[in-house]
Amino acid sequence: MHCPFCSAEETKVIDSRLVAGGDQIRRRRECLTCKERFTTYEIAELLMPRIIKQDGSRMPFDEEKLRSGMMRALEKRPVSIEKIDEAISQLKHYLQALGEREVPSRIIGEQVMEQLRKLDGVAYVRFASVYRSFQDLDQFRAEIDRLQPEKLRPE
Ligand SMILES: [Zn+2]
Repeated sequence: MHCPFCSAEETKVIDSRLVAGGDQIRRRRECLTCKERFTTYEIAELLMPRIIKQDGSRMPFDEEKLRSGMMRALEKRPVSIEKIDEAISQLKHYLQALGEREVPSRIIGEQVMEQLRKLDGVAYVRFASVYRSFQDLDQFRAEIDRLQPEKLRPE
């Protein structure tokens, strides 16, 4: 990269080490022209994909909106904040791992259902019944039947 002092093109790395628990690389560089030294940091770029809504419009991923939707489904359910945070970070990791710049909102909805199914059966049914437009009552019942019985009871 160019020297920030004199804009010379040639700089050399004189030291390189892992920082932030191995999540960043810190490099000391020296300009070959003016001999000034400076530091650069390298971190992995983990951007959240943008969300494609049903009508085709795009919007940024909104973690707070996701969280409030899940909290609504989990209202008065015996699930700790830690568990919810864990589910949200799993969901974000899933989206990042897709490696797509844009994903349909349907993918988010399905992932929320997947996470809620693991957390609490009642919250799952609450969310699913609102989120999905069930064709008829039989389809809704089939969803409930797929749940593990123990997940419908508080732990
Ligand atoms: Zn320089």
